[in-house]
Amino acid sequence: MTRFADFHKRSISDRDGFWAEQAALIDWHKPFEQVCDYSHPPFAKWFVGGQTNLCHNAVDRHLATRADQNALIFVSTETEQERVYSFRELHAEVQRMAACLLDLGVKKGDRVLVYMPMIPEAAFAMLACTRIGAIHSVVFGGFASGSLASRIEDATPTVVVSADAGSRGGKVVAYKPLLDEALRLSSHKPGKVLMVDRGLSPFQRVADRDVDYAPLREKHLKTEVPCVWVDSTHPSYTLYTSGTTGKPKGVQRDTGGYAVALAASMKHIFQGQAGETYFSASDIGWVVGHSYIIYGPLIAGMATIMYEGLPIRPDAGIWWSLVEKYKVSLMFTAPTAVRVLKKHDAALLTKYDLSSLRTLFLAGEPLDEPTAQWIAQGLGKPVIDNYWQTETGWPILTIANGVEKAPTKFGSPGFAMYGYDVKLLDDATGKELTEPNQKGVLVIEGPLPPGCMQTVWRDDERFINTYWKTIPGRLVYSTFDWGIRDADGYYFILGRTDDVINVAGHRLGTREIEESISSHPAVAEVAVVGVADQLKGQVAMAFVVVKDAGSIPDDAAKLKLEGDIMKTVDGQLGAVARPARVRFVTALPKTRSGKLLRRAIQAVCEQRDPGDLTTIEDPSALQQIRDLL
Ligand code: ATP
Ligand code: MG
Repeated sequence: MTRFADFHKRSISDRDGFWAEQAALIDWHKPFEQVCDYSHPPFAKWFVGGQTNLCHNAVDRHLATRADQNALIFVSTETEQERVYSFRELHAEVQRMAACLLDLGVKKGDRVLVYMPMIPEAAFAMLACTRIGAIHSVVFGGFASGSLASRIEDATPTVVVSADAGSRGGKVVAYKPLLDEALRLSSHKPGKVLMVDRGLSPFQRVADRDVDYAPLREKHLKTEVPCVWVDSTHPSYTLYTSGTTGKPKGVQRDTGGYAVALAASMKHIFQGQAGETYFSASDIGWVVGHSYIIYGPLIAGMATIMYEGLPIRPDAGIWWSLVEKYKVSLMFTAPTAVRVLKKHDAALLTKYDLSSLRTLFLAGEPLDEPTAQWIAQGLGKPVIDNYWQTETGWPILTIANGVEKAPTKFGSPGFAMYGYDVKLLDDATGKELTEPNQKGVLVIEGPLPPGCMQTVWRDDERFINTYWKTIPGRLVYSTFDWGIRDADGYYFILGRTDDVINVAGHRLGTREIEESISSHPAVAEVAVVGVADQLKGQVAMAFVVVKDAGSIPDDAAKLKLEGDIMKTVDGQLGAVARPARVRFVTALPKTRSGKLLRRAIQAVCEQRDPGDLTTIEDPSALQQIRDLL
């Protein structure tokens, strides 16, 4: 058996011993008495009796050894700002923000909703919350009023922290009017709104409710706010899933388990060293932003880059110029961003000195082989796919080079990480599939490891009913993703359980068809959905964005390309998987986190109501499809 296999095996068979060792990676104010309390499944309590603090582990504990090293590097290509905070400065700013929140009446256990662009104050607000035991609920900046209102109602915050505006591609997006409207719509009214004024968009203050951050901060320049020691099981935050498959779920996370899980992942999976720089090009509105912009890198004593801007402005080399400038060692982004870069000059990938960069991590959606190859070859660096969910907070499937160096397989995020007892279940019989190369639903046997969701915020019933089911004698958590495991233990994700289509009795994952289509050299992006068909039950429909950015081929070229693409699928998967039609669009409908909204495309194709679209990025992309039909 290999080292990793042993490591994984022990994490399951000697669960408590294994995690007790990992727990030594963080500081505890009071040691825990019990590693895991799973007496009320599926609810798992980690490090029971222990007390700690996330902000202490991310900031304060580094002061003794690295106070003057970089902690937070803020870069905005929107406002042309760049600002570096050392751990000492970050510590000071977090205390100032914490003092402001206390001033506004925030108490331990209160929720603070953070509706912010990617600016340092957003990081200060998150860390200030965990510092004082308040529960942050970050809502992706720029969400429309309706989406924001429903989250305000669910989280019932005491205070909302916001800013006048964000900016995207040079265009100012005023947040305050959106927030005002959301607060008008919501039946819950927070007592105070703390406003960071960036000077981008003048805004109206509501008397007795809206408070400007800058003057309040001035009052607290020297206020010391010690970390509040909280129980390991104290909630640190709530965060909503991306809403790809329906109404978003409010994920609730603990404190101790999360800190341990992140510290362990930084060591075993990401291999980040204190003093180095981590660049996660995501947004604090998503789980990647929580785990791998803010908490993970800082807990590991690394500097983290917070980037406001597009990956292609001023040009598609901007990220790599930051890698050079800040000597980034580890980088993290989503395949969708790589696909955006892929439409631009590949020479930009090698224009800068990337010698500091060791690895590029990608997560969030299936990483197709052509995209993976393009970026890996272009950068000349290893690319590591990792598969996880908002619910789990850290990778379920990937490779852990910090434990044992393992090869990557294109198309596979890797094998089950330590702590995760991953299984595949037969969809029809519900039985566990033990042979290699069988297709099943990817589930995790409880308890979920540290760092994963504790429950759905204020809705234990929904947590149980949504995610858990019993297979003979065992309780398993469903990821709602299809997977397949090969003989080496590598998993391949075949798509969402509701993304399987049934063509004349053949069950096909939309992902497989997409993968095949995207291997065609003219294709930049593709979405495949199953559409009801009288004859065959369902047929596959493909929507394609061609590589030549933003253009639609002319009719003759379309016809030829459609035929070519069908031939490609025929050759790779067989005629049964061939899409009935290939249609060309300039953009695909995605969530704001870059995930394909297949269910919405499918609904439009079947002339149904597309359902909850609160997280859609660009409604006109869906309109294009509507217009085509
Ligand atoms: P919702 O649960 O509200 O429908 P969502 O599932 O898109 O939204 P997230 O938690 O942001 O919300 O996304 C997790 C999902 O993203 C996974 O369940 C999986 O479908 C997909 N995913 C994430 N990483 C990968 C990856 N590396 N390869 C394939 N799929 C991935
Ligand atoms: Mg999900």
